[in-house]
Amino acid sequence: MTIDTVVAEYKAMANNARLFDRRNEFIAVMLEAEAARFEALKQRKPITTGANNWKFPLDTEYAAHALAERIIAKIDPDRQGDVNFCQIAEPGYDPNIGVFANWNKYPKWARAIEKLERLGCPISAEWSDEWVDCHECGNAYRSQPDSYGWTKSWWFGPYDCEIICADCTRKHMLDEYLEWLSESHERADTFLDDRDLEDAGWKQLDYTFENGLYGGQSASPAKIAAWLRKQGVEKFLFKIGTVGQFDMGFTVWVPDEADIDEHYFKTDADWGRMNGPDPAEMAKKALKSVPPMPVSEVGKAQYVKE
Ligand SMILES: [Zn+2]
Repeated sequence: MTIDTVVAEYKAMANNARLFDRRNEFIAVMLEAEAARFEALKQRKPITTGANNWKFPLDTEYAAHALAERIIAKIDPDRQGDVNFCQIAEPGYDPNIGVFANWNKYPKWARAIEKLERLGCPISAEWSDEWVDCHECGNAYRSQPDSYGWTKSWWFGPYDCEIICADCTRKHMLDEYLEWLSESHERADTFLDDRDLEDAGWKQLDYTFENGLYGGQSASPAKIAAWLRKQGVEKFLFKIGTVGQFDMGFTVWVPDEADIDEHYFKTDADWGRMNGPDPAEMAKKALKSVPPMPVSEVGKAQYVKE
């Protein structure tokens, strides 16, 4: 028997109950509720069995929402802002409803949420000091790295005051973001795809720069900026690509119409003319400049003149 058949059956029974006698209204409502529950199960939607009595299949977003609301009502009944919840949209994370708090204060609730997650509910307990939410869409993004390769999926908006996520930037303010990036060589994109930039009329210069602790990883955005300005290119931006434990790679982008001799650019990059001081050399010099440790009295070799 399919769910549709069961639903139709319950609906028919509800109709009959109602037709038979007005006093059967209660039975009719219960039968309709059961029909609704089956329909909801099929469509994974929330259902109601009365004004204040919601029931949800546990593995739905609605269940996660309702549970998050109830948990917050328990932990923070006066809504002091100690606990919050919103949709997680961080790349690489399940799109759960995140409940954000300092869980050291509520370990029991953290465990309850973890248990719900294990049971298939799309909910998770997250630390409130590691996340931010987007001013436009309200979705949650990490503000603290969770791995060496992590990069930020948001920025502070054109006025440096509101958190705007990657999605909202793409949808509503890509031009403002690119403008903001191109205003300073101390800024670099961390979340756009190459496609986004290409579609917006930018081209990547054919070179990947490296910055880090290893020898030769000393590409300097300030020197690259100076080089570009010398070629008459006023508009350019930097984009961070790969990030490792001790280093990262970045690329340089210019508007499509910018006239650059890419061969010359590459040659100068290869010759290190866009490099700052070499980090490995600096480390060597720094170590050399450390004065030798004085030998302690105890450790001094005795020299006896014959
Ligand atoms: Zn957003």
